[in-house]
Amino acid sequence: MTSVLILLGPPGAGKGTQAVRLCSALSLPHVSTGDLFREHRAKGTPLGLEAQVFMDAGKLVPDELVLDMLFERVAKPDCARGYLLDGFPRTLAQAQALEGRLGSQSHLRVLNLRVGDAALIERLTGRWTCRICNRVQHVKTSPPKVAGHCDVCSGELYQRADDTAEVVNQRLAVYREQTSPLEGFYRSRGVLTEVDGARSPDEVFPALTRAVRAEDALRPA
Ligand code: AMP
Repeated sequence: MTSVLILLGPPGAGKGTQAVRLCSALSLPHVSTGDLFREHRAKGTPLGLEAQVFMDAGKLVPDELVLDMLFERVAKPDCARGYLLDGFPRTLAQAQALEGRLGSQSHLRVLNLRVGDAALIERLTGRWTCRICNRVQHVKTSPPKVAGHCDVCSGELYQRADDTAEVVNQRLAVYREQTSPLEGFYRSRGVLTEVDGARSPDEVFPALTRAVRAEDALRPA
């Protein structure tokens, strides 16, 4: 039985931050389609170059490009026992494709991080990412000790092209139109747990682990 945990929520809800912590606590591989695309871009692969146009405009990469890449990743041996999906699915077609692939031999649960638009915009437009270790710092909540450099590895901090104000608004609109219907999709299947994401990462994390544990306790052995 493969355990698949999905972190759902708008851009800026804290999926990436919480995914890293949850994966370490639950010993699950972290599968982020955004990170996979950024790796392809960094390597200059044809997929990376094709995806870049959509990403920089705050649009979704077409489903067929996402699905092949994702299914190739989760077919690797480290995902056999289970994995955590961050940033996937983002459309109903992706959710249906995942459901078809998983079949009945998997246990799926979805944690939905809820955060209001004003907080999302402040979080995203103030965020700077390290070029070397990918750690994210925020101008207000975790300002770098040395301006422009990562607190952990001193790497150069940069603003993701899709974290600028204009692109952030576009990403939120895309979320509302194309991704938020997934809440109803998973709620109707009885696998969705809502978690208030409008708190500090240290407060959200225990709420997420409690939600996972509460669900595990209900599962037949
Ligand atoms: P993220 O790092 O999850 O915010 O993703 C960054 C960008 O990558 C998104 O704005 C999309 O352009 C693209 N992307 C990531 N995951 C998906 C997905 N599941 N479907 C379509 N596009 C995606």
